[in-house]
Amino acid sequence: MDAICRRGENMDKIERKIEAIIDAHAKELIEFAEDIYRHPEEGFYEERTAAKVADFLRGLNLKVHTGLARTGVRADWMEQDGPNVTIIGELDAIGCREHPMADSVTGVAHACGHHAQLAAMIGAALALADEEVRASLSGSVSFFAVPAEEYIDARKREKLAREENIGFPGTGKSELIRVGAFDHTDIALTTHVHMVPVEEDLYLGNPSCNGFSSELVIIRGKAAHAAISPWEGVNAVNIAASAMNMIGLMRETFRDDEHVRVHSLVREGGEVLNSVPDKVVMEEKVRAKTLKGIEDAKEKIDRAFDAAAMAFGGKIIRKNLQGYMPVRVRKADSALVEAARDLGATYREVELTDHNNASTDVGDLTHLMPVLNFTFRGFEGSLHGADFRITDTDTAYILPAKMLALTTYKLLRKNAAQAREILREFEPVFDREAYVRYIHSRTE
Ligand SMILES: [Zn+2]
Repeated sequence: MDAICRRGENMDKIERKIEAIIDAHAKELIEFAEDIYRHPEEGFYEERTAAKVADFLRGLNLKVHTGLARTGVRADWMEQDGPNVTIIGELDAIGCREHPMADSVTGVAHACGHHAQLAAMIGAALALADEEVRASLSGSVSFFAVPAEEYIDARKREKLAREENIGFPGTGKSELIRVGAFDHTDIALTTHVHMVPVEEDLYLGNPSCNGFSSELVIIRGKAAHAAISPWEGVNAVNIAASAMNMIGLMRETFRDDEHVRVHSLVREGGEVLNSVPDKVVMEEKVRAKTLKGIEDAKEKIDRAFDAAAMAFGGKIIRKNLQGYMPVRVRKADSALVEAARDLGATYREVELTDHNNASTDVGDLTHLMPVLNFTFRGFEGSLHGADFRITDTDTAYILPAKMLALTTYKLLRKNAAQAREILREFEPVFDREAYVRYIHSRTE
């Protein structure tokens, strides 16, 4: 309640103008979000969504670049000196065939609320592109609608690499980093619907999240008649079962503080019952809190498959696929806290001990640049579930738009003092070249 009493009290003239512009366009923003909700598209193929975002940003007289990592849309004004803040919105929907709004062909639906992010991003663009607001900033701002946040599975990756020339087809942000589309970004600003249970309107900061590695495991055995001469065969299904048993028994060796999760999926498990199965295709995903934790757990998983294959006389063919990097925790920056207070929203701040076992490709960005983040309320049902839907348009579309715009303004006003301070303190793990090298070293 304390926050509500203070609403707007400390806002300057520009901040009031930012809020007024977004309020004046609230209906348009809601329609924008709901149109995208009705037309979900899958990762790297978000053509309609991307075109809609690009048209809107062109309407604000921004220079718009399209086709980045296939569907990415980035609008900039780069001519202003000072740090660049890039506001990010995610274009893709998630596979959820049971969702009432799922696309009948692709089976994807906006069950992760990315349509709300896009509405928030264009709402922020509306306010920040205003001439007076823009003149008050000592830095540049970009609006970046990015493809494919949701995990792309192995089969689709091959097609993307082969037909679309996508170098890092596992995730949109990673491919954008690879092609240099983030080279001009100093600070990224991201948002999402709440990903962990939070009662408050806003959860400020970037909580630590698991990263993961992924691999395709092809188990080769030897076919033989299943009844006449099974001893002449090598049973690939039995190798898979043994490996999975070993992985189960290894779980006690996973460190609690690494939050390790192992997921296994059988894509192909033999052709006919009358023959000893000679081929099984599996996908394995290993999650952990740190890059080292992922590598340690993955080594154990690999050993389990190799050992099972050796015991039965089979063979493992392994293809290491790119995963997501963990999110490096970032406490709420003061710009975010001030913006939430200005707007009278209830909020909670990220604690250093908070951790989310799920993963996002925002993690990759956090290894290169400071990523300021907040999540928001305003929906019901479970994330990625058939019952997910936005129920409070003000909290899910309008409040995040104001948060993005006000935070950006606070970072870049007064000689961009807050942005410069963040950049002074930030220690990157990789630059672009080192990042690309790291991914190659883990996927070849
Ligand atoms: Zn999401």
